[in-house]
Amino acid sequence: MTVPTCKQLINGKWQESTSGNILPVTNPSTGETIAQVPLCDQSEVDKAVQAALAAFPAWAKTPPQARTQILFRYKHLLDAHFDELYRLVTREHGKTLAEAKGSVRRGIEVVDLACGIPMLIKGETLSETGGSVDYMSERFPLGVCAGITPFNFPAMIPLWMFPIALACGNTFILKPSEQTPLTAIRLVELLVEAGIPDGVMNLIHGARDAVNALLTHPHIRAISFVGSTPVARYIYQTGAANGKRVQSAGGAKNHFIVMPDAPVDAVIEAINASAFGCAGERCMAGSTLLTVPGATERILEPLREAAAAMKVGPTDSDESVDMGPVISKPHLEKIHGYLAQSEKEGAKLILDGRHVNVESAPNGYYIAPTLVDGVNPQSGIIKEEVFGPVLGILRMNSLDEAIEQMNQSPFGNAGVIFTDSGKAARQFRREVRCGMIGINVGVPAPMASFSFTGWNDSFFGDLHIQGTEGIAFYTQQKVTITRWF
Ligand code: NAD
Repeated sequence: MTVPTCKQLINGKWQESTSGNILPVTNPSTGETIAQVPLCDQSEVDKAVQAALAAFPAWAKTPPQARTQILFRYKHLLDAHFDELYRLVTREHGKTLAEAKGSVRRGIEVVDLACGIPMLIKGETLSETGGSVDYMSERFPLGVCAGITPFNFPAMIPLWMFPIALACGNTFILKPSEQTPLTAIRLVELLVEAGIPDGVMNLIHGARDAVNALLTHPHIRAISFVGSTPVARYIYQTGAANGKRVQSAGGAKNHFIVMPDAPVDAVIEAINASAFGCAGERCMAGSTLLTVPGATERILEPLREAAAAMKVGPTDSDESVDMGPVISKPHLEKIHGYLAQSEKEGAKLILDGRHVNVESAPNGYYIAPTLVDGVNPQSGIIKEEVFGPVLGILRMNSLDEAIEQMNQSPFGNAGVIFTDSGKAARQFRREVRCGMIGINVGVPAPMASFSFTGWNDSFFGDLHIQGTEGIAFYTQQKVTITRWF
């Protein structure tokens, strides 16, 4: 059976890649190949950059309120195609339809934010600073910006980037994940339909070579990246060494602390949704549970029962499924490797999802929710990002010890406490070293008007993605000091 080959958008024209390198795109629910994606080379990256560079002066001069008219139309088109978009996310990524819907909605909220850009990029003045001198600061776009995105949110993460960049007057090149490029193509097709001028938005496909060409291209001013920590660090270092502004979000290892006074039912629901939602493939997924004496006995068995009851299966054809597949066979094998290693080190799988049998989709990449107790704190599943439906459990002696354990992690995306105590919550809020925290909230992911504030090895750069920092990232300031005689 022939499958479509993904096209690239360069200077307003959809075109086939000339590189000759292609990879299959699979539906992880079934293992079937649904498209082919080209891996473009330096010459194609250069064409996209030249197109974006040529389109920049006119777009930067277009009044902000005219730029946002296109984004208003885009927002309406995204709403009108909402069903198609979330189904596409499910098909190429494997999220449940409900999870896919939520993720597309979160992405559209960034377009809502970008539509307010005439208000958000207004400058500042200070008059009469002495001797008839007035100060004024204005925000200007940077030029050509590029976005490189991961597989796990095929709609939301590209939408974190280009709507704000374009609204600020920049031109853009998107390089989506080669594992999930189809939703990105549809997002860009709709932007073209909304009226984005030729060259202002470009889309290329590829992997390491394409990314290196973007990182070193002299005409790219800024790079936005979301992906794993080793690549995020490399992007930051290489982009900065090539004189670019970089915001580079990496991987995570997020902890839940459960206190003895936390309400059991609400905690179980929140932990299940966080650890096993999107099959654990979220940078905000909780993956280590730290229990404080009194909490362990109350929550462990109900948690095991609730996790065991989750239905695992093909999300594209069965709406009753609670959890879908992971992205690929190699990724599934990597998760199995972490579990085998933790068993060797003496841990006990009190819920073992490795042998799940999905009869309706025998070639999909499935692992059911897995709970690992008695883990060595030095074990890979505690220290590294597994990125699967696996929750490691560590029994702590006190809140102080739990916070200390959390703070040993090199990552710093999210942390959550479940408690009824304002005192414990306040201590947690003040002392944990990560950028997004939840107090009785399982997935503390900020909405579009707040920045996505990862710390430590979960973020490299100065200005985070979306929110006010996102707008600052895509603009540069000019201060004018005036005196009239
Ligand atoms: P990845 O790092 O493998 O790939 C991300 C992007 O980088 C892709 O576009 C890929 O083509 C490119 N890439 C991969 N290897 C490269 C290399 N050696 N050189 C240059 N470019 C390269 O990440 P992934 O597996 O697609 O996504 C999952 C990761 O993303 C997880 O670690 C997850 O925590 C992280 N993530 C972080 C956030 C956040 O906001 N912090 C959000 C979502 C996902």
